[in-house]
Amino acid sequence: MQLADQAAIVTGAGSGIGRAIALAFAREGASVGVADINAASAQKVAAEIEATGGRAIALAMDVTDEAMVNAGVEKVVDRFGRLDAMVANAGIQIVHPIEEFPYEEFRRVVDIHLGGSFLLTKAAVKHMYPRRSGSLIYMGSVHSHEASPLKSAYVAAKHAILGLARTMAKEGGRHGVRSNVICPGFVRTPLVEKQIPEQARDLGISEEDVVSRVMLGRTVDGEFTTLEDVADIAVFLAGFGSSALTGQSMTASHGWYMG
Ligand code: NAD
Repeated sequence: MQLADQAAIVTGAGSGIGRAIALAFAREGASVGVADINAASAQKVAAEIEATGGRAIALAMDVTDEAMVNAGVEKVVDRFGRLDAMVANAGIQIVHPIEEFPYEEFRRVVDIHLGGSFLLTKAAVKHMYPRRSGSLIYMGSVHSHEASPLKSAYVAAKHAILGLARTMAKEGGRHGVRSNVICPGFVRTPLVEKQIPEQARDLGISEEDVVSRVMLGRTVDGEFTTLEDVADIAVFLAGFGSSALTGQSMTASHGWYMG
């Protein structure tokens, strides 16, 4: 087991990629704080982990609410006695051409991805610095490196996460804390399923073309990245043994982005 005796918190862990990471961390021996704005889904995933012999607590948390983020991190430390890894994963997607993009929706996207990552980091390092150890893991995207039309808010937020993570590599380095970003290509989660009809409408093309041209057209093999691919990288980053690997973004996208 790669994460035996560790404790972690994963946001947006009630669904999709976050859920897959929470389950993989638990399988590798970590105790997991399963945080999500959807309390019922967080509870379901925590129950799933406990049913297979793992240790988890469900945390109802809106990552844009500083008090809720602080309380969630405290609960993990109270229950499990430590915090070794955080995964800032909670996210949403809203697509519009910029001239129709409501500012309120732009702000909501940036606030959840970037503000949520900032708040989780701030709460997590308080427990990592004194132990001179910890792994900060941010959920970026190929859109941390590339742009796509209609995604001004998401692309801006995902690029900004690289800046936050690199800053944390420098600030955290003095305290033995590592900071890295995972950048997946398209993974078939509810977040992506929702975009297929929306993009077909906005771009005036069929849903099949959204998948084969827009989402997978620049991969080397026309394949989606899987939940397991992303979870494997998160386990690797959480378990890596030294600060040799910090300030990096690791892309898993079937060759869509080669950076
Ligand atoms: P998803 O919709 O399946 O899961 C997102 C989860 O985040 C949901 O459970 C949702 O309730 C939760 N959430 C939303 N707002 C929240 C908030 N304010 N506070 C706490 N939780 C909140 O989506 P997913 O595809 O698993 O996406 C997870 C992350 O992966 C996101 O950051 C996304 O940008 C990133 N990502 C996804 C893909 C993809 O293709 N699916 C690709 C690259 C990056």
